[in-house]
Amino acid sequence: MAQAQAVEKKQMRTPIESGCPDGMQYMHPLMIKNFGNWKYHDRPRPGVLHHVAYSGDEIWTVRVGTQRQLGPYEINLLCDIVDKYGEGHVRFTIRSNLEVMVSKWDKVGPLIQAFNDAGYPVGGTGNSVTMISHTQGWLHCDIPGTDASGVVKSLMDELYEEFIKEEMPNRVHITTSCCQINCGGQGDIAINVQHTKPPKINHDLVANVCERPSVVARCPVAAIRPAIVNGKPSLEVDEKKCICCGACYPPCPPMQINDPEHSKLAIWVGGKNSNARSKPMFQKLVAAGLPNNPPRWPEVAAVVKKILYTYKKDARDWERVGDWVERIGWPRFFELTGLPFTKFHIDNWRGARNSLNASTHIRF
Ligand code: SF4
Ligand code: SF4
Repeated sequence: MAQAQAVEKKQMRTPIESGCPDGMQYMHPLMIKNFGNWKYHDRPRPGVLHHVAYSGDEIWTVRVGTQRQLGPYEINLLCDIVDKYGEGHVRFTIRSNLEVMVSKWDKVGPLIQAFNDAGYPVGGTGNSVTMISHTQGWLHCDIPGTDASGVVKSLMDELYEEFIKEEMPNRVHITTSCCQINCGGQGDIAINVQHTKPPKINHDLVANVCERPSVVARCPVAAIRPAIVNGKPSLEVDEKKCICCGACYPPCPPMQINDPEHSKLAIWVGGKNSNARSKPMFQKLVAAGLPNNPPRWPEVAAVVKKILYTYKKDARDWERVGDWVERIGWPRFFELTGLPFTKFHIDNWRGARNSLNASTHIRF
C-alpha cells in the first residue's frame, strides 16, 4: 500500500508555473556576483547609473526610453544593439524603460550613440521626467475609456527634452489611467479618465450577460436597482445618485459608459508613494473635463506642460510636486498655473462614510 502511494506520488504532475520567472537567471554576471554587496552608486551623466561593489567591481547601466508597446521589429532592433554594443543583458523598469548593463565605461558612449541613431533617447534618471507609466489600455483590458499608451507616447514626444536632461527640482513621475476605478494612476501628475454621464443600459442583453445582484452590489452609491423592462429582467439607474464612476461596466458590459464625447480626461497633482523627505501623499484633482482627443491629446498636453514648467520654475531643490504645492498652498498653485478653480475641486471626503456604499449588502 505504502509502495503504491509512493509510486503514485512520484508520478504526480508538477504544476506549470505561469507567474513571473526568476529574474536571477537573466541578470548580468557581475550583478549576480555582487548581489546585495554594492557600496555606492552615482550618475556620471543623465541616463547612466554607475554602481560600485565592495569587491571593487563596477557596472554601468544605460537607461533607454521606449515607445512602450514594442512589436517584433522594435524588439529585434533593440536586441541587436544590445548584442553588438552591450553585453547581451537587458531588463525593463516598471515604467517600461529598457536598461542595458555593461562592465566597462568605454562601452557606454558607443551604446548611447547606437540607441540615439536608432531614434531611442537615453535618460530618465535622477531629476528628470522619467517614462510615464500607464495602465493596460485597449491592448490587454476590456474596459478602457481611452487609449493609454497613445497618451503616453504623444506626451513623451513633447517632454523629450525633460527625459534626456536632469533639470527638474526632483524626479517627476507622471501616470495615466484608462478607467476611473481599477488600476488607477497615482503620481506627481496623473491623467485619469473621467466619465461625465451615467451608463446607458442595453436592456436586451442584461439578462443574458449580467449577474444582477453583483452589479447592484458593485455601485458605490447604491444607484442601481433590478427592474423588469419590456418584460425582461434588467436593471435601472437612479441618475440623480449616479456619480459616473464606471464601476458597473466591468461586471455588466451592457451598462455602456464609455463615450467618445462624454468620457473626458482629468488631471490630478501631488501624489507620491515615496517617503523620502516627506510622507507619501495622495493626489488632488486640478483640471477636469478635458477632451479625450486622440491621436495627440493637445489639450491634456498643454495643461500637463503648464503644471510641469510652473513647478520647474517655482519649486525649491528636491521638492516633489506635492511638497511644492504644500509649501505654496493650493490658492497659489491655481494662481501660478492659471488653471480655473471651481467648487468641484473641493472634496475632502468628509461624510463619505454616510454617502458611499461601504458594505456589500444589496439594497433594493
Ligand atoms: S485602468 Fe481600468 S481600463 Fe485601464 S487597464 Fe486598468 S482596469 Fe483596464
Ligand atoms: S456603479 Fe458608478 S456609474 Fe454605475 S450606476 Fe453606480 S455610480 Fe453610476
